[in-house]
Amino acid sequence: MPADHEPPSELRDAEGRAIRYLRLSITDRCDMACTYCMPPEGEREHGLRDELLSFEEIVRLVRLLASHGLRRVRLTGGEPLVRRDVVSLVARLAETGIEDLWLTTNGSRLAALAEPLRAAGLVGVNVSVDSLDPARFARITRGGDLFGVRRGLEAALAAGLSLRTNTVVLRSENLGELAAIARFAWSIGATPRFIELMPIGEGARLPPSERVGAVEMRAALGELGLGDEALGDPGRGPARYLSTRGEGTGGAPARRVGLITAVSDEFCASCNRMRVTSHGEVRPCLASRRAVSLRELLRGGASDREVLHALGWALGGKGPGHRFDHDAQSGTLDVDHHQVGMSLVGG
Ligand code: SAM
Ligand code: SF4
Repeated sequence: MPADHEPPSELRDAEGRAIRYLRLSITDRCDMACTYCMPPEGEREHGLRDELLSFEEIVRLVRLLASHGLRRVRLTGGEPLVRRDVVSLVARLAETGIEDLWLTTNGSRLAALAEPLRAAGLVGVNVSVDSLDPARFARITRGGDLFGVRRGLEAALAAGLSLRTNTVVLRSENLGELAAIARFAWSIGATPRFIELMPIGEGARLPPSERVGAVEMRAALGELGLGDEALGDPGRGPARYLSTRGEGTGGAPARRVGLITAVSDEFCASCNRMRVTSHGEVRPCLASRRAVSLRELLRGGASDREVLHALGWALGGKGPGHRFDHDAQSGTLDVDHHQVGMSLVGG
């Protein structure tokens, strides 16, 4: 039997964890420059357009992965909505056999794109909302327009997209706003998620005192009456969810808050994801040094089997857990390595 026609098997990492979830960066460009992500002048390593995986290459890769157990794809960046023709990419990815297609965005272009994205097959969006105060929002994002993002959220809601908000918690900026952000998210039918600052990208240059861990986040959300039990959402990512006790007001269902505390509360054992950068590098884990370039393989006429072999090798480098916290506490954090930020790796 020719190698390319071997029966599909599941992709697993070195720990035996099945890979069901791909975070796929489609650009490293962005129209904001958040203090914890990008340097003030924006990402320095903008590639030539030719260096990005083409839509054909992306679709081939996702179709191949879908036939080996992949179920969910999240498009990210940089800012994925700045990639030209992103709606047509979404339409093509929706046809690859995956169950769930989401996108993480800063929301700046969502007002115009929410409806066509939904029509193309997008299921939901995570929108970054780091503050409800326009001046603070502009400061954290270095120029972002909160009103534009709010219009984007309204458009996403009207289009029927599932909604989550993402907030990176910064002690000196938005720690006092967490409960208000959660209430705002609930008011538009979104699930709020709060993200611990990670020592990657520009986040590695911020003072460690800016980092707020799981315990303090819970305390800051205390007035919401959340229960103690943090439940995961199997197969859907790293967030642990806390729910309001009992029913919400007027008999409404209990409401949820997600905490993503990758540093203080490692969740690697249940990790089922891998990342592919906009240049086609496979990163089994944010904290992994092992990266394999698929771009040349995809461009050089490699067979599906060869591409799968490269993926398997990359996944073999995915260890049992990351060492962010250990590195940060022991002072051995490799800033150059972690300097490869979310905008390049794909957050
Ligand atoms: N531009 C889109 C956005 O901001 O939502 C998508 C890409 S962004 C890199 C993806 C996520 O990574 C965002 O929720 C962002 O807040 C988060 N992020 C970026 N740098 C981070 C850091 N150093 N620590 C924690 N989260 C970070
Ligand atoms: Fe851009 Fe998102 Fe990074 Fe902010 S977090 S600079 S919006 S890529």
